[in-house]
Amino acid sequence: MKWQGRRRSTNVNDQRGRMTGRGVATAGGAGLILALVVFLITGDPGALGGLFGGGVTQQQQQQDYQPSEREQQMFEFSGVVLADIEDVWGALFPKYNETYKQPTMTVYTGAVNTACGAADSGVGPFYCPGDQTIYLDLSFYDTLVNRYGADQGDFILTYVIAHEAGHHVQTLLSVTEQLNQYRQQAATGRISQTDFNEISVRYELQADYLAGVVARGIANKGYMEQGDMEKAMSAAEAVGDDSIQRKMQGYVDPDTFNHGTSQQRKTWFRRGFDAGDLSQWDTFSGAI
Ligand SMILES: [Zn+2]
Repeated sequence: MKWQGRRRSTNVNDQRGRMTGRGVATAGGAGLILALVVFLITGDPGALGGLFGGGVTQQQQQQDYQPSEREQQMFEFSGVVLADIEDVWGALFPKYNETYKQPTMTVYTGAVNTACGAADSGVGPFYCPGDQTIYLDLSFYDTLVNRYGADQGDFILTYVIAHEAGHHVQTLLSVTEQLNQYRQQAATGRISQTDFNEISVRYELQADYLAGVVARGIANKGYMEQGDMEKAMSAAEAVGDDSIQRKMQGYVDPDTFNHGTSQQRKTWFRRGFDAGDLSQWDTFSGAI
């Protein structure tokens, strides 16, 4: 993606180098877990250990944090992607008589406190509706390539950030609220966990669609480069439930899917890219 010298969002909260001590959460364990309804890029159960492993009790600013040049480039790149996200949704929302409220993106290292509870980078990038913030530890780039098998390339980060920003769009347009009602029904046994998982897959595929819409906006401005679409596709492929389960547990259990297969994720990203707006965004009715 062409990004050098372009506008970077001012909604980036740089918390890198804040060493966050981990300890016993002040909230009770169960309370902490309940508070943690966040939206991740993957449903990798192995990665969730960190999220539920304990709270964050103390933070101290590390002086003179020195990112590597590579990390700093990724940081600046991410700020440009967030600016593109603001441009795309800022232009589209009025067409649907909606007002776009820009999300914040907190870039952190290690662990972070959020309105949804404490989290560490093991969980991967996520969106917290409670503070309308995308949380990103840039080390996820290497995780995406080395653990999940995505191709190298900056556009895989574009896909990831645009997916999380998709959850922000879903929150603004009340889709997240509906999902949480289903989550409640699953918790009280009114619908089965398997049924809830399928709804969750549809919700996640919609975020992939919305990521595709952002990519289309970037392409329309002439900033997409040769090979970027393939990179986004490789990222969508890498975070498919079937691909992750095959890698991490050696078998695939469709009943536990909560983000969609590699094929579904690629399909809906492409669909969003082709549409470039919300016209095809309904992942909740019909076949996926
Ligand atoms: Zn997601």
